[in-house]
Amino acid sequence: MIRTRYAPSPTGFMHIGNLRTALFEYLIARRNGGAFILRIEDTDQERFVEGATDAIFETMKLTGLSFDEGPRIGGEYGPYIQSERKADYLPHARFLVECGKAYYCFCDKERLDGLADERGLKKYDRFCTKLSAAEISKRLESGEAYVVRQLIPEGKTTFHDEVFGDITIDNREMEDQILIKSDGMPTYNFANVVDDHAMAITHVVRGSEYLTSTPKYKLLYEALGWDVPIFVHLPLLQNEQGQKISKRNGDASIPQLLEMGFLPEAIVNYAALLGWSPSSPTSGDKKDYREIFTLAELEKVFEPKNISKSPSAFDVNKLRWVNGEHIKVLPPEVFCEMAFPYLKEAVKKTGVDYAALAKMTQSRVTVVKDCAELVDFIDQLPEYDIELYTHKKMKTNPEVAKQALTLTIEGLGRLTEWNHETLSTAATEIAAENGLSKGQILWSLRTALSGKATTPCGATEICELLGKDETLQRLKIGLQKVS
Ligand code: GLU
Repeated sequence: MIRTRYAPSPTGFMHIGNLRTALFEYLIARRNGGAFILRIEDTDQERFVEGATDAIFETMKLTGLSFDEGPRIGGEYGPYIQSERKADYLPHARFLVECGKAYYCFCDKERLDGLADERGLKKYDRFCTKLSAAEISKRLESGEAYVVRQLIPEGKTTFHDEVFGDITIDNREMEDQILIKSDGMPTYNFANVVDDHAMAITHVVRGSEYLTSTPKYKLLYEALGWDVPIFVHLPLLQNEQGQKISKRNGDASIPQLLEMGFLPEAIVNYAALLGWSPSSPTSGDKKDYREIFTLAELEKVFEPKNISKSPSAFDVNKLRWVNGEHIKVLPPEVFCEMAFPYLKEAVKKTGVDYAALAKMTQSRVTVVKDCAELVDFIDQLPEYDIELYTHKKMKTNPEVAKQALTLTIEGLGRLTEWNHETLSTAATEIAAENGLSKGQILWSLRTALSGKATTPCGATEICELLGKDETLQRLKIGLQKVS
Protein backbone atom coordinates (compact mmCIF):
# COMPACT_ATOMS: atom_id res chain seq x y z
CA MET A 1 0.00 0.00 0.00
CA ILE A 2 1.28 3.43 -0.92
CA ARG A 3 1.90 5.69 2.05
CA THR A 4 3.09 9.27 1.90
CA ARG A 5 3.64 12.01 4.42
CA TYR A 6 3.91 15.76 4.45
CA ALA A 7 6.60 16.58 6.99
CA PRO A 8 6.92 20.32 7.57
CA SER A 9 9.09 21.95 10.18
CA PRO A 10 6.95 24.36 12.20
CA THR A 11 8.94 27.45 11.30
CA GLY A 12 6.12 29.63 9.96
CA PHE A 13 3.18 29.71 7.61
CA MET A 14 3.11 27.45 4.55
CA HIS A 15 4.05 29.07 1.24
CA ILE A 16 3.16 27.87 -2.24
CA GLY A 17 6.21 25.58 -2.42
CA ASN A 18 5.23 23.86 0.84
CA LEU A 19 1.69 23.48 -0.40
CA ARG A 20 2.95 21.94 -3.64
CA THR A 21 4.95 19.34 -1.68
CA ALA A 22 1.94 18.54 0.51
CA LEU A 23 -0.33 18.36 -2.52
CA PHE A 24 1.92 16.02 -4.50
CA GLU A 25 2.27 13.72 -1.47
CA TYR A 26 -1.50 13.78 -1.06
CA LEU A 27 -2.15 13.07 -4.73
CA ILE A 28 0.31 10.19 -4.96
CA ALA A 29 -1.44 8.56 -2.02
CA ARG A 30 -4.98 9.32 -3.17
CA ARG A 31 -4.52 8.23 -6.76
CA ASN A 32 -3.42 4.83 -5.59
CA GLY A 33 -5.86 4.30 -2.74
CA GLY A 34 -3.02 4.83 -0.30
CA ALA A 35 -2.66 6.74 2.95
CA PHE A 36 -1.43 10.27 3.56
CA ILE A 37 -0.22 11.55 6.93
CA LEU A 38 1.00 14.83 8.42
CA ARG A 39 4.13 14.81 10.56
CA ILE A 40 5.41 17.91 12.29
CA GLU A 41 9.21 17.89 12.37
CA ASP A 42 9.95 20.00 15.40
CA THR A 43 13.20 18.53 16.67
CA ASP A 44 15.07 21.75 15.96
CA GLN A 45 13.75 23.65 18.95
CA GLU A 46 15.71 26.80 18.06
CA ARG A 47 13.77 27.28 14.82
CA PHE A 48 10.41 26.48 16.38
CA VAL A 49 7.81 29.21 15.86
CA GLU A 50 4.91 29.42 18.27
CA GLY A 51 1.58 28.81 16.54
CA ALA A 52 3.15 27.46 13.33
CA THR A 53 1.82 23.93 13.82
CA ASP A 54 -1.74 25.20 14.16
CA ALA A 55 -1.28 27.40 11.10
CA ILE A 56 -0.05 24.45 9.01
CA PHE A 57 -2.93 22.34 10.24
CA GLU A 58 -5.42 25.07 9.34
CA THR A 59 -3.98 25.54 5.84
CA MET A 60 -4.15 21.80 5.18
CA LYS A 61 -7.77 21.80 6.25
CA LEU A 62 -8.71 24.85 4.21
CA THR A 63 -7.13 23.48 1.07
CA GLY A 64 -8.81 20.11 1.50
CA LEU A 65 -5.64 18.06 1.94
CA SER A 66 -7.06 15.68 4.51
CA PHE A 67 -4.96 12.97 6.14
CA ASP A 68 -5.88 9.40 6.84
CA GLU A 69 -4.43 8.75 10.26
CA GLY A 70 -2.70 10.35 13.20
CA PRO A 71 -3.56 11.14 16.80
CA ARG A 72 -7.22 12.13 17.18
CA ILE A 73 -7.94 15.81 17.79
CA GLY A 74 -11.65 16.14 18.45
CA GLY A 75 -13.29 14.13 15.71
CA GLU A 76 -10.41 14.49 13.25
CA TYR A 77 -6.95 13.13 12.69
CA GLY A 78 -4.19 15.41 13.86
CA PRO A 79 -0.51 15.41 12.99
CA TYR A 80 2.20 13.18 14.40
CA ILE A 81 4.60 15.36 16.37
CA GLN A 82 8.25 14.36 16.23
CA SER A 83 9.30 15.85 19.58
CA GLU A 84 6.70 13.66 21.27
CA ARG A 85 8.54 10.65 19.86
CA LYS A 86 11.93 11.68 21.30
CA ALA A 87 12.48 8.34 23.05
CA ASP A 88 12.16 6.40 19.77
CA TYR A 89 15.33 7.64 18.11
CA LEU A 90 18.19 6.99 20.54
CA PRO A 91 17.86 3.17 20.51
CA HIS A 92 18.36 3.17 16.73
CA ALA A 93 21.40 5.43 17.08
CA ARG A 94 22.84 3.11 19.74
CA PHE A 95 22.27 0.16 17.44
CA LEU A 96 24.27 1.94 14.72
CA VAL A 97 27.08 2.62 17.21
CA GLU A 98 27.13 -1.05 18.15
CA CYS A 99 27.51 -2.11 14.52
CA GLY A 100 30.23 0.43 13.86
CA LYS A 101 28.09 2.64 11.58
CA ALA A 102 27.96 5.55 14.01
CA TYR A 103 30.04 6.82 16.96
CA TYR A 104 29.87 9.03 20.03
CA CYS A 105 31.54 12.39 19.63
CA PHE A 106 32.49 14.56 22.62
CA CYS A 107 34.12 17.46 20.77
CA ASP A 108 33.03 20.81 22.10
CA LYS A 109 32.06 23.89 20.12
CA GLU A 110 35.47 25.49 20.51
CA ARG A 111 37.23 22.50 18.98
CA LEU A 112 34.69 22.24 16.14
CA ASP A 113 34.99 25.96 15.38
CA GLY A 114 38.75 25.52 15.12
CA LEU A 115 38.27 23.02 12.26
CA ALA A 116 37.24 25.68 9.77
CA ASP A 117 39.40 25.76 6.64
CA GLU A 118 40.32 28.91 4.74
CA ARG A 119 36.83 28.93 3.16
CA GLY A 120 35.19 28.71 6.59
CA LEU A 121 33.98 25.14 5.92
CA LYS A 122 34.12 22.82 8.90
CA LYS A 123 34.17 19.17 7.99
CA TYR A 124 34.43 17.02 11.09
CA ASP A 125 37.88 15.38 11.32
CA ARG A 126 36.71 12.16 13.04
CA PHE A 127 38.77 12.94 16.13
CA CYS A 128 36.45 10.87 18.36
CA THR A 129 36.72 7.73 16.23
CA LYS A 130 40.18 7.36 17.77
CA LEU A 131 38.88 7.11 21.34
CA SER A 132 39.18 3.70 23.01
CA ALA A 133 36.06 1.83 24.15
CA ALA A 134 37.11 2.28 27.76
CA GLU A 135 37.55 6.00 27.34
CA ILE A 136 34.12 6.31 25.68
CA SER A 137 32.40 4.39 28.50
CA LYS A 138 34.13 6.51 31.12
CA ARG A 139 33.09 9.76 29.48
CA LEU A 140 29.50 8.58 28.97
CA GLU A 141 29.26 7.43 32.58
CA SER A 142 30.57 10.71 33.89
CA GLY A 143 27.67 12.43 32.11
CA GLU A 144 29.82 14.32 29.61
CA ALA A 145 27.86 15.91 26.77
CA TYR A 146 27.98 13.99 23.51
CA VAL A 147 26.45 13.72 20.09
CA VAL A 148 26.10 10.62 17.91
CA ARG A 149 27.58 10.90 14.41
CA GLN A 150 27.01 8.73 11.36
CA LEU A 151 30.22 7.06 10.16
CA ILE A 152 30.26 7.55 6.40
CA PRO A 153 31.99 4.57 4.78
CA GLU A 154 34.45 4.84 1.90
CA GLY A 155 33.21 4.44 -1.65
CA LYS A 156 30.35 5.83 -3.67
CA THR A 157 26.62 5.90 -3.05
CA THR A 158 24.00 5.69 -5.78
CA PHE A 159 20.30 6.24 -5.32
CA HIS A 160 17.36 6.52 -7.66
CA ASP A 161 15.03 9.48 -7.76
CA GLU A 162 11.75 9.30 -9.69
CA VAL A 163 12.23 12.78 -11.11
CA PHE A 164 16.00 13.24 -11.31
CA GLY A 165 16.99 9.66 -12.19
CA ASP A 166 20.05 7.84 -10.81
CA ILE A 167 22.42 9.99 -8.79
CA THR A 168 25.86 8.89 -7.59
CA ILE A 169 27.88 10.74 -4.99
CA ASP A 170 31.43 10.11 -3.85
CA ASN A 171 31.21 9.45 -0.10
CA ARG A 172 34.21 11.74 0.46
CA GLU A 173 31.85 14.65 -0.23
CA MET A 174 29.74 13.72 2.79
CA GLU A 175 30.39 14.64 6.38
CA ASP A 176 29.86 12.39 9.40
CA GLN A 177 26.57 14.10 10.16
CA ILE A 178 25.11 14.35 13.64
CA LEU A 179 22.24 11.94 14.28
CA ILE A 180 21.52 12.69 17.94
CA LYS A 181 22.21 16.15 19.34
CA SER A 182 23.62 16.88 22.79
CA ASP A 183 20.10 17.63 24.08
CA GLY A 184 19.11 14.06 23.18
CA MET A 185 16.93 15.19 20.27
CA PRO A 186 17.49 13.60 16.88
CA THR A 187 18.52 15.87 14.00
CA TYR A 188 16.13 16.17 11.08
CA ASN A 189 18.59 14.07 9.09
CA PHE A 190 18.13 11.12 11.43
CA ALA A 191 14.53 11.57 12.50
CA ASN A 192 13.20 11.62 8.93
CA VAL A 193 14.75 8.20 8.24
CA VAL A 194 13.58 6.64 11.52
CA ASP A 195 10.08 8.03 11.16
CA ASP A 196 9.67 7.27 7.47
CA HIS A 197 10.51 3.68 8.32
CA ALA A 198 8.37 3.60 11.48
CA MET A 199 5.41 5.04 9.60
CA ALA A 200 5.95 2.68 6.63
CA ILE A 201 6.29 5.55 4.18
CA THR A 202 6.70 4.22 0.63
CA HIS A 203 7.17 7.52 -1.26
CA VAL A 204 9.21 10.37 0.15
CA VAL A 205 8.33 13.59 -1.67
CA ARG A 206 10.33 16.73 -0.88
CA GLY A 207 12.12 19.70 -2.37
CA SER A 208 15.20 19.17 -4.53
CA GLU A 209 17.35 20.89 -1.87
CA TYR A 210 17.33 17.50 -0.14
CA LEU A 211 18.90 15.68 -3.10
CA THR A 212 22.42 16.15 -1.75
CA SER A 213 21.48 14.69 1.65
CA THR A 214 19.70 11.67 0.24
CA PRO A 215 22.85 9.49 -0.13
CA LYS A 216 23.37 9.84 3.64
CA TYR A 217 19.80 8.76 4.24
CA LYS A 218 20.24 5.81 1.92
CA LEU A 219 23.32 4.73 3.89
CA LEU A 220 21.28 4.97 7.09
CA TYR A 221 18.43 2.84 5.74
CA GLU A 222 20.94 0.23 4.67
CA ALA A 223 22.86 0.32 7.94
CA LEU A 224 19.61 -0.16 9.87
CA GLY A 225 18.55 -2.97 7.54
CA TRP A 226 15.46 -1.14 6.33
CA ASP A 227 13.88 -0.83 2.86
CA VAL A 228 14.80 2.37 1.06
CA PRO A 229 11.63 4.32 0.11
CA ILE A 230 10.96 5.71 -3.36
CA PHE A 231 12.34 9.23 -3.59
CA VAL A 232 10.48 11.95 -5.48
CA HIS A 233 12.34 15.25 -5.39
CA LEU A 234 10.44 18.25 -6.68
CA PRO A 235 12.01 20.86 -8.95
CA LEU A 236 13.19 24.15 -7.57
CA LEU A 237 10.50 26.76 -7.22
CA GLN A 238 11.55 30.36 -7.79
CA ASN A 239 9.78 33.56 -6.90
CA GLU A 240 9.18 36.40 -9.35
CA GLN A 241 12.67 37.75 -8.58
CA GLY A 242 14.28 34.45 -9.55
CA GLN A 243 15.13 33.49 -5.94
CA LYS A 244 14.15 30.24 -4.30
CA ILE A 245 10.62 30.61 -2.89
CA SER A 246 10.88 30.82 0.85
CA LYS A 247 9.44 32.42 3.92
CA ARG A 248 12.82 34.04 4.44
CA ASN A 249 12.64 35.81 1.06
CA GLY A 250 9.34 37.33 2.11
CA ASP A 251 7.26 35.31 -0.34
CA ALA A 252 3.53 35.31 0.23
CA SER A 253 2.28 32.63 2.58
CA ILE A 254 -0.90 30.71 1.84
CA PRO A 255 -2.87 32.72 4.44
CA GLN A 256 -1.63 35.89 2.71
CA LEU A 257 -2.70 34.60 -0.72
CA LEU A 258 -6.13 33.81 0.74
CA GLU A 259 -6.23 37.31 2.20
CA MET A 260 -5.42 38.71 -1.27
CA GLY A 261 -8.59 37.04 -2.52
CA PHE A 262 -7.34 33.81 -4.04
CA LEU A 263 -9.69 30.88 -3.53
CA PRO A 264 -8.31 27.78 -1.80
CA GLU A 265 -9.29 25.60 -4.78
CA ALA A 266 -7.49 27.94 -7.19
CA ILE A 267 -4.33 27.99 -5.06
CA VAL A 268 -4.34 24.18 -4.99
CA ASN A 269 -4.92 24.02 -8.75
CA TYR A 270 -2.11 26.51 -9.37
CA ALA A 271 0.29 24.64 -7.05
CA ALA A 272 -0.34 21.47 -9.09
CA LEU A 273 0.87 23.22 -12.24
CA LEU A 274 4.23 24.14 -10.71
CA GLY A 275 6.37 21.47 -12.29
CA TRP A 276 3.60 19.07 -13.28
CA SER A 277 1.31 18.78 -16.31
CA PRO A 278 -1.27 16.19 -17.35
CA SER A 279 -0.18 13.24 -19.49
CA SER A 280 -1.87 14.08 -22.72
CA PRO A 281 -2.93 17.25 -24.47
CA THR A 282 -6.62 18.13 -24.38
CA SER A 283 -6.87 18.48 -28.15
CA GLY A 284 -4.83 17.69 -31.25
CA ASP A 285 -2.65 20.70 -30.51
CA LYS A 286 0.36 19.38 -28.62
CA LYS A 287 0.56 22.52 -26.51
CA ASP A 288 -3.07 22.38 -25.45
CA TYR A 289 -2.80 20.93 -21.97
CA ARG A 290 -5.74 21.27 -19.69
CA GLU A 291 -4.85 23.45 -16.74
CA ILE A 292 -8.00 23.90 -14.69
CA PHE A 293 -8.72 21.13 -12.19
CA THR A 294 -10.51 20.63 -8.93
CA LEU A 295 -8.74 18.65 -6.25
CA ALA A 296 -10.99 15.66 -6.97
CA GLU A 297 -10.05 15.82 -10.65
CA LEU A 298 -6.36 16.05 -9.81
CA GLU A 299 -6.72 12.92 -7.71
CA LYS A 300 -7.70 11.09 -10.90
CA VAL A 301 -5.18 12.51 -13.35
CA PHE A 302 -2.04 13.11 -11.31
CA GLU A 303 0.92 11.00 -12.39
CA PRO A 304 4.29 11.51 -10.70
CA LYS A 305 6.01 10.56 -13.96
CA ASN A 306 4.84 13.89 -15.38
CA ILE A 307 6.75 15.93 -12.81
CA SER A 308 9.40 17.93 -14.62
CA LYS A 309 12.87 18.49 -13.24
CA SER A 310 13.21 22.01 -14.62
CA PRO A 311 12.71 24.80 -12.13
CA SER A 312 9.35 26.48 -12.20
CA ALA A 313 8.53 30.02 -11.22
CA PHE A 314 5.68 31.52 -9.25
CA ASP A 315 3.69 33.82 -11.51
CA VAL A 316 1.00 35.83 -9.81
CA ASN A 317 -0.70 36.64 -13.12
CA LYS A 318 -1.10 32.97 -13.91
CA LEU A 319 -2.52 32.44 -10.41
CA ARG A 320 -4.97 35.27 -11.08
CA TRP A 321 -6.06 33.60 -14.30
CA VAL A 322 -6.53 30.23 -12.58
CA ASN A 323 -8.50 32.02 -9.85
CA GLY A 324 -10.73 33.71 -12.44
CA GLU A 325 -11.51 30.35 -14.02
CA HIS A 326 -12.52 28.94 -10.63
CA ILE A 327 -14.65 32.02 -9.93
CA LYS A 328 -16.52 31.53 -13.23
CA VAL A 329 -17.78 28.11 -12.17
CA LEU A 330 -18.88 29.07 -8.66
CA PRO A 331 -22.65 28.76 -8.15
CA PRO A 332 -24.01 32.32 -8.66
CA GLU A 333 -25.39 32.49 -5.13
CA VAL A 334 -21.99 31.58 -3.69
CA PHE A 335 -20.27 34.27 -5.75
CA CYS A 336 -22.97 36.76 -4.77
CA GLU A 337 -22.36 36.11 -1.11
CA MET A 338 -18.62 36.56 -1.52
CA ALA A 339 -18.98 39.69 -3.65
CA PHE A 340 -21.74 41.31 -1.60
CA PRO A 341 -19.53 43.20 0.91
CA TYR A 342 -17.42 44.67 -1.92
CA LEU A 343 -20.42 45.57 -4.08
CA LYS A 344 -22.18 47.13 -1.10
CA GLU A 345 -19.14 49.26 -0.38
CA ALA A 346 -18.80 50.35 -4.02
CA VAL A 347 -22.48 51.03 -4.75
CA LYS A 348 -24.51 52.74 -2.05
CA LYS A 349 -27.39 53.92 -4.25
CA THR A 350 -30.73 52.67 -2.94
CA GLY A 351 -32.79 50.05 -4.71
CA VAL A 352 -29.80 48.35 -6.30
CA ASP A 353 -30.14 44.67 -7.12
CA TYR A 354 -26.84 43.34 -5.79
CA ALA A 355 -27.52 39.82 -7.03
CA ALA A 356 -27.82 41.23 -10.55
CA LEU A 357 -24.57 43.18 -10.11
CA ALA A 358 -22.83 40.05 -8.87
CA LYS A 359 -24.08 38.10 -11.87
CA MET A 360 -22.69 40.72 -14.23
CA THR A 361 -19.25 40.72 -12.67
CA GLN A 362 -18.73 37.03 -11.92
CA SER A 363 -17.19 36.10 -15.24
CA ARG A 364 -15.11 39.26 -15.45
CA VAL A 365 -13.00 39.23 -12.30
CA THR A 366 -9.86 37.33 -11.39
CA VAL A 367 -10.25 38.04 -7.68
CA VAL A 368 -13.64 38.60 -6.08
CA LYS A 369 -12.91 42.04 -4.65
CA ASP A 370 -12.22 43.41 -8.16
CA CYS A 371 -15.98 43.38 -8.73
CA ALA A 372 -16.05 46.70 -6.86
CA GLU A 373 -14.11 48.66 -9.46
CA LEU A 374 -16.30 47.26 -12.25
CA VAL A 375 -19.41 48.81 -10.79
CA ASP A 376 -18.18 51.91 -8.98
CA PHE A 377 -19.36 54.14 -11.87
CA ILE A 378 -22.97 53.46 -10.81
CA ASP A 379 -22.78 55.78 -7.82
CA GLN A 380 -20.58 58.33 -9.46
CA LEU A 381 -19.72 59.09 -13.06
CA PRO A 382 -15.93 59.22 -13.25
CA GLU A 383 -14.02 61.94 -15.08
CA TYR A 384 -13.28 60.68 -18.59
CA ASP A 385 -11.58 61.79 -21.76
CA ILE A 386 -13.76 62.29 -24.85
CA GLU A 387 -11.38 60.04 -26.77
CA LEU A 388 -13.26 57.18 -25.08
CA TYR A 389 -15.98 57.82 -27.65
CA THR A 390 -13.62 56.75 -30.42
CA HIS A 391 -13.88 53.15 -31.54
CA LYS A 392 -12.55 52.43 -35.01
CA LYS A 393 -14.43 49.22 -35.74
CA MET A 394 -17.65 50.63 -34.38
CA LYS A 395 -17.06 53.76 -36.49
CA THR A 396 -17.63 56.08 -33.57
CA ASN A 397 -15.83 59.23 -32.44
CA PRO A 398 -16.77 62.34 -30.46
CA GLU A 399 -18.52 63.77 -33.54
CA VAL A 400 -20.74 60.68 -33.94
CA ALA A 401 -21.30 60.66 -30.17
CA LYS A 402 -22.62 64.23 -30.37
CA GLN A 403 -25.28 63.13 -32.83
CA ALA A 404 -26.04 59.88 -30.98
CA LEU A 405 -26.36 61.59 -27.60
CA THR A 406 -28.59 64.37 -28.94
CA LEU A 407 -30.89 61.75 -30.45
CA THR A 408 -30.98 59.48 -27.41
CA ILE A 409 -31.65 62.29 -24.93
CA GLU A 410 -34.73 63.07 -26.95
CA GLY A 411 -35.74 59.51 -27.85
CA LEU A 412 -35.18 57.87 -24.47
CA GLY A 413 -36.66 60.89 -22.74
CA ARG A 414 -40.00 60.04 -24.35
CA LEU A 415 -40.07 56.48 -23.00
CA THR A 416 -42.70 55.75 -20.40
CA GLU A 417 -41.60 52.20 -19.75
CA TRP A 418 -37.97 51.94 -18.70
CA ASN A 419 -36.57 48.48 -19.10
CA HIS A 420 -34.02 46.54 -21.09
CA GLU A 421 -36.47 45.67 -23.92
CA THR A 422 -38.04 49.11 -24.39
CA LEU A 423 -34.59 50.70 -24.27
CA SER A 424 -33.19 48.27 -26.81
CA THR A 425 -36.11 48.79 -29.20
CA ALA A 426 -35.76 52.54 -28.85
CA ALA A 427 -32.04 52.34 -29.67
CA THR A 428 -32.79 50.27 -32.80
CA GLU A 429 -35.37 52.77 -33.98
CA ILE A 430 -33.24 55.83 -33.31
CA ALA A 431 -30.40 54.24 -35.26
CA ALA A 432 -32.57 53.23 -38.23
CA GLU A 433 -34.33 56.59 -38.50
CA ASN A 434 -31.10 58.56 -38.49
CA GLY A 435 -28.74 56.56 -40.67
CA LEU A 436 -26.61 55.37 -37.75
CA SER A 437 -25.83 51.81 -36.69
CA LYS A 438 -27.20 50.48 -33.42
CA GLY A 439 -23.58 49.90 -32.35
CA GLN A 440 -22.81 53.61 -32.77
CA ILE A 441 -25.77 54.53 -30.58
CA LEU A 442 -24.98 51.99 -27.88
CA TRP A 443 -21.25 52.72 -27.75
CA SER A 444 -21.86 56.44 -27.26
CA LEU A 445 -24.56 55.72 -24.72
CA ARG A 446 -22.43 53.31 -22.70
CA THR A 447 -19.46 55.69 -22.68
CA ALA A 448 -21.56 58.64 -21.52
CA LEU A 449 -23.19 56.55 -18.78
CA SER A 450 -20.10 54.86 -17.39
CA GLY A 451 -17.07 56.96 -18.35
CA LYS A 452 -15.24 53.64 -18.76
CA ALA A 453 -13.79 51.67 -21.62
CA THR A 454 -15.12 48.39 -20.27
CA THR A 455 -18.22 47.73 -18.23
CA PRO A 456 -19.70 44.51 -16.87
CA CYS A 457 -22.88 44.96 -18.91
CA GLY A 458 -24.22 46.69 -21.97
CA ALA A 459 -25.63 50.20 -22.41
CA THR A 460 -29.29 49.34 -21.95
CA GLU A 461 -28.62 47.38 -18.73
CA ILE A 462 -26.72 50.40 -17.42
CA CYS A 463 -29.72 52.62 -18.26
CA GLU A 464 -31.86 50.27 -16.22
CA LEU A 465 -29.46 50.26 -13.30
CA LEU A 466 -29.22 54.05 -13.22
CA GLY A 467 -32.90 54.80 -13.78
CA LYS A 468 -34.29 57.36 -16.20
CA ASP A 469 -33.36 60.62 -14.45
CA GLU A 470 -29.76 59.71 -13.80
CA THR A 471 -29.41 58.30 -17.34
CA LEU A 472 -30.64 61.48 -18.98
CA GLN A 473 -28.46 63.61 -16.73
CA ARG A 474 -25.32 61.67 -17.67
CA LEU A 475 -26.22 61.79 -21.37
CA LYS A 476 -26.44 65.57 -21.09
CA ILE A 477 -23.04 65.74 -19.40
CA GLY A 478 -21.68 63.62 -22.25
CA LEU A 479 -23.22 65.88 -24.84
CA GLN A 480 -21.70 68.95 -23.22
CA LYS A 481 -18.29 67.30 -23.27
CA VAL A 482 -18.39 66.56 -27.00
CA SER A 483 -20.06 69.82 -28.08
N1 GLU B 1 11.07 19.05 7.74
C1 GLU B 1 11.56 19.17 6.40
C2 GLU B 1 11.21 20.55 5.86
O1 GLU B 1 10.32 21.19 6.39
C3 GLU B 1 10.90 18.13 5.54
C4 GLU B 1 11.73 17.48 4.53
C5 GLU B 1 11.12 16.13 4.20
O2 GLU B 1 10.02 16.11 3.65
O3 GLU B 1 11.72 15.13 4.51
O4 GLU B 1 11.81 20.99 4.91
